[in-house]
Amino acid sequence: TYVVTDNCRGCRYTECVTVCPVECFHVDDTMTYIDPENCIDCGGCAPACPVGAIEPDYRLAADKKFWIDVNRKRATETPVISARLPPLPGADERKVALGR
Ligand code: SF4
Repeated sequence: TYVVTDNCRGCRYTECVTVCPVECFHVDDTMTYIDPENCIDCGGCAPACPVGAIEPDYRLAADKKFWIDVNRKRATETPVISARLPPLPGADERKVALGR
């Protein structure tokens, strides 16, 4: 499954939502999460993310593996997002700070 990680927090560009063919994405006030029960591993979302927040689970660095559980849990607690939202305030500045 693909996993949303910390770079999304505070940006939440939601480009990922427009490319996902199966409505995997959930959202809260800070970021998006992928429902691992729905993800078909198409890989479309990862290159679509402007801040590189999305990776396949097997490629996550050891210190980012915990995001697998965060996505699984938060996907059960948050609504599906099926259309883009405006990025969070300060997203563009954060993107620059991340070197993107
Ligand atoms: Fe959706 Fe494909 Fe990303 Fe899985 S890998 S969340 S199916 S766009």
